[in-house]
Amino acid sequence: MPLVNSIADAAPELRAWRHDFHQHPELNYEEHRTAKVVAERLRAMGFDAVETGIGQTGVIGVLHGRNGPGDEANAIMLRADMDALPIHEMNDVPHRSLTDGKMHACGHDGHTTMLLGAAQHMAETRAFDGTVYFCFQPAEEGGAGAKAMIEDGLFERFPCRSVYGMHNWPGKPMGQFLTRRGPLLAASDEFQITLTGLGGHAAKPDTCIDPIVCGAAIVQSLQSIVARRVDPLESVVVSVTTFKSGDPFNVIPETAFLGGTVRSFDAELHERTYEQIERIVTNIASAHEIKAEFKRPDNMYPATINDAAQTDFCLEVAREVAGPDMVVDGVDPTMGGEDFAFFAQIKPSCFMLIGNGDSAGLHHPRYDFNDEATAWGASFWTRLTEKALPLE
Ligand SMILES: [Zn+2]
Ligand SMILES: [Zn+2]
Repeated sequence: MPLVNSIADAAPELRAWRHDFHQHPELNYEEHRTAKVVAERLRAMGFDAVETGIGQTGVIGVLHGRNGPGDEANAIMLRADMDALPIHEMNDVPHRSLTDGKMHACGHDGHTTMLLGAAQHMAETRAFDGTVYFCFQPAEEGGAGAKAMIEDGLFERFPCRSVYGMHNWPGKPMGQFLTRRGPLLAASDEFQITLTGLGGHAAKPDTCIDPIVCGAAIVQSLQSIVARRVDPLESVVVSVTTFKSGDPFNVIPETAFLGGTVRSFDAELHERTYEQIERIVTNIASAHEIKAEFKRPDNMYPATINDAAQTDFCLEVAREVAGPDMVVDGVDPTMGGEDFAFFAQIKPSCFMLIGNGDSAGLHHPRYDFNDEATAWGASFWTRLTEKALPLE
């Protein structure tokens, strides 16, 4: 059974909704307009309840099935993210971002629209038994909006047995669904290093303590962690992404700042990697007579670990929607991070990838969500609900 007919028929309307979100991108916790539009749509569809302001700008739509509400064992949560990125859009399309320096470069405009498309259909048919919570979360891009909603009492206020999420995937065919059991997306974490030496005249290096030379040695040595300290069959990324220091050509600066990210799938290995980074920084700085300050900001995203049974279930739903040939069971994990991981730590969950066709990559200034994917995603949400909460 392919696309849900009424969802396919609603394609022009859903496209208009998506283009409206695309034109009005909002960053982490600033999704006031988006949240308002989402809440208004859900209310207009006749939802049983619509709660706003959860985790600052999150929205939950509550929909009961034909036989009224269900308890926790008969309730599921479907999640979409709403936030955009601080990127200047380079697309020349009529629905281009109206705000310079902000754009929907990760397709969260599409994720929100897919879930709204499913909401519209399900509010009409209610062909399920129990409760579906439609979760529209803020601040996926580095702001840990999922965590903010959980800390705001998400699962106490909206008790459910499982949570499902979906992300579009550029380069995969339209109508294709992909996922895997276990780790799908990596833990994503940050480090910051401030080196303080002694600045002075570039022509008198012997009277200075140069933080740039020390920083360069640290960058080089950090490469040895993955190459020499990690089991070659395990996966870790250590990337230095920022190195700021100095300005005039004839001055040795006093300070240097380095920053970067650690990605991994294994919590123990992740912690060990941090210990090694800190040891390298401390010891190399000491050898250079530099004062080093090592910081690990509290904004880690854990690895997204798919529950095996929920993954089998989602793959079955995907096969019904897209056909067995369009479902990839066991896609390679990726080093990207996702804050859906916070939901998956608490509830048995599955995160799906859905093909976005031959588009630019995620976070690219020429990326645009493929509107054809909306009907596939919305049909998937609908079938998933009807299968998870079947009517007698
Ligand atoms: Zn993103
Ligand atoms: Zn994203």
